[in-house]
Amino acid sequence: MSATTVTTPQELATANPLDDARAQLRAAVELLGYDEGTYAMLATPRREVTVGIPLRRDDGSQEVFVGHRVQHNFSRGPAKGGVRFSEHVDLDEVRALAMWMTWKCALLDVPYGGAKGGVRIDPRRYSPSELERVTRRYTSEILPVIGPDKDIPAPDIGTDERTMAWMMDTYSVSCGYTVPGVVTGKPIALGGSRGRASSTSRGVVHIALAAMESRGLTPARTSAAVQGFGKVGRGVARFLADAGVRVRAVSDVHGAIVADEGIDIPALEAHVDATGSVVGFSGAETLEESLLELDVDVLVPAAVEGVLTAENAPRVKARIVVEGANGPTSPEADMILEANDVLVVPDILANAGGVVVSYFEWAQANQTYWWSEAEVERRLAERMLTTWEQVNSYAGTRRLSLRSAAMAMAVERVVTAHGLRGLYP
Ligand code: NAD
Repeated sequence: MSATTVTTPQELATANPLDDARAQLRAAVELLGYDEGTYAMLATPRREVTVGIPLRRDDGSQEVFVGHRVQHNFSRGPAKGGVRFSEHVDLDEVRALAMWMTWKCALLDVPYGGAKGGVRIDPRRYSPSELERVTRRYTSEILPVIGPDKDIPAPDIGTDERTMAWMMDTYSVSCGYTVPGVVTGKPIALGGSRGRASSTSRGVVHIALAAMESRGLTPARTSAAVQGFGKVGRGVARFLADAGVRVRAVSDVHGAIVADEGIDIPALEAHVDATGSVVGFSGAETLEESLLELDVDVLVPAAVEGVLTAENAPRVKARIVVEGANGPTSPEADMILEANDVLVVPDILANAGGVVVSYFEWAQANQTYWWSEAEVERRLAERMLTTWEQVNSYAGTRRLSLRSAAMAMAVERVVTAHGLRGLYP
């Protein structure tokens, strides 16, 4: 991979993410001995809303975007999931991401179902005021199906706390009073939780360090590569480096860089803040090969789905893959990595720190009572590491991969809740 010619994950991806999500569900349903009707119930989203979003641009011209909100499951509580602004958004991608949210919430035992939203737009091509208008119109179009007891959006690719502030304000104006619990990932000044912005990355690193320990790797003797330098990847690189891990390579959509002695992450962050990309950082070289195939101990894909495929999985040299992104590994790649004794820590466990602290934010908003950052981080670490132990023990006693174990645990919890509630009518 070079700074100028990057193969995007979308180009690498061979499969529709919904096919991957359904294949994972199928395997869990078979493992648990459930019937075809249960598979069909879990493979089908409960509700899907597709909307047109007209925008008057700053120059007076008009454009229309397509947006979705998919609510996959409500058996364990209100739906929960991020909103993605990307030119690659399509309905099947949003369906897959919504399904993964259901499993993630169930696995971490937060009282939510799963949802996801997306707008097919390249946010880099629009001004802040245009993005505000798109966000507000999207929010008003999906307004009937969201709310603190219905479905609670959060940031994802291409959205951030500012987007959540606009969504919260639009929803609140329509109600006539302020409803902080309608979204999570808000600015702290509007009722956001301390520790939310870094929570996904912190969770990934808690799990990465636990996975390293399970394979006898100490941080000082471990090297890592991180794909993606956004809200998740940047924090992962920083917290891994803080823990003493040598972060050899990082990438973003513009290119990848490598420094064998380890990248100075604070200096790289200053460079990214100034230039908008990791490319051109003076403390590293341009990485000419694929970051995913680099000779490191730990690989953290933290960009988009579908990057580890049957084609490149045989060349992965890392001993541990920690899925910071959602759905980065296809089922075929999973099998290849397992056969090659690569430990894959699945997304629904590894990157669940965001939804755990979103749950803390929602709980704080509903109580209008705020916890300290130390309190949030203590509870996050406890929940992530407890779940890590549970998944490991489930996998160990049944001789399963971590993904099979995590999926089975999550699917079983959703099916139990569904069974207790019964089928209406
Ligand atoms: P983001 O938009 O903040 O960052 C995405 C990063 O990926 C950017 O640095 C972008 O340049 C990079 N990227 C895109 N294409 C790339 C490519 N071809 N090669 C290398 N890098 C590339 O998004 P984010 O919030 O950091 O989300 C990243 C992943 O983590 C997504 O899969 C998302 O669903 C998942 N996730 C995010 C959260 C969260 O709290 N933000 C929580 C759980 C999971």
